[in-house]
Amino acid sequence: MYRKKYKAEILIVDDIPQNLRLLAKILSKQGYLVRLAPNGKRALAIVEDNIPDLILLDIMMPEMDGYEVCQLLKANEAVCDVPVIFLSALDKIMDKVKAFEMGGVDYITKPLEEKEILARVQTHLTIRNLQKELEARNRELARLVNIDGLTQVASRRYFDSYLEQEWKRLAREKNHLALIMLDLDYFKLYNDYYGHPIGDDCLKQIGQTLMQAIQRPADLAARYGGEEFVMVLPNIDKSGAVHVAKNIQEKLHDLQIPHTKSKVSPYVTCSMGIACMIPNQSLSLAEFITIADKALYTAKEQGRNQFILGEY
Ligand code: GH3
Ligand code: MG
Ligand code: MG
Repeated sequence: MYRKKYKAEILIVDDIPQNLRLLAKILSKQGYLVRLAPNGKRALAIVEDNIPDLILLDIMMPEMDGYEVCQLLKANEAVCDVPVIFLSALDKIMDKVKAFEMGGVDYITKPLEEKEILARVQTHLTIRNLQKELEARNRELARLVNIDGLTQVASRRYFDSYLEQEWKRLAREKNHLALIMLDLDYFKLYNDYYGHPIGDDCLKQIGQTLMQAIQRPADLAARYGGEEFVMVLPNIDKSGAVHVAKNIQEKLHDLQIPHTKSKVSPYVTCSMGIACMIPNQSLSLAEFITIADKALYTAKEQGRNQFILGEY
């Protein structure tokens, strides 16, 4: 396993070589990897190649002072979250306030004290690490609520928000939106006969097949609930939507998942209802969904293993 050799990477920016040397000695002794920059320009160049975990930044430097360097760092998306601790002999209250206003997280007054430097560095590295952990967990949570755990297609929750977004967008664009609702045929009998775990495997395969059947980046396949799936297909007219439904039916047929208890086929089949229109004021989104739902019901009634294009 890859093991980090250093506790953290710290960039030190100071125009006085003795200060750089002193800080480098204090920090490397504690297991930090240090990079040194004698001016702001060099510091900005270094962060382009190596994003540090923390930056110690002198305020009074010729050409570009620490405040300006900090502003440029904060404007750079790649490094804007790296904590900056200012270093300066200035200790007037206004200078300290300005350091925070520029985006610094802390301020250390010269002459530099080893224990103080280490304590502040450690504190801000800890805060930064907690922040990163929180961000990672939030990303994971966002992923989990948007994906159906069993089938790995989009979740019902994601479908609801995506459909609404596309409904509004296509109403503005005056372009078609299609919705396909899909329900597996005699799936209760499948479960009763093959058992729930095999039923789950079947749903996973159906999910994969639907993902393959939709091809454009804006198309979405989601689990609506139980053994029902939905497809959102933006910018597609009725014949395009019918083409997708046909493709799904063929792909499912090619899978040949045995279903000896089905009354319509020796294999697992599905019924689909399609709604397709240019969103407008005459119909609500809920009514649009009902069109697909009713068409699905008709497909079931008329014998299953087929799709019906809903009328309105
Ligand atoms: P129809 O052709 O009319 O749609 O009949 P059906 O049996 O498919 O419809 P019904 O709604 O009566 O049954 C759906 C079944 O889907 C009930 C349940 O056993 C099964 N099911 C729903 N969710 C899951 C799931 O997450 N895993 C498994 N294995 N089965 C599920
Ligand atoms: Mg059902
Ligand atoms: Mg069913």
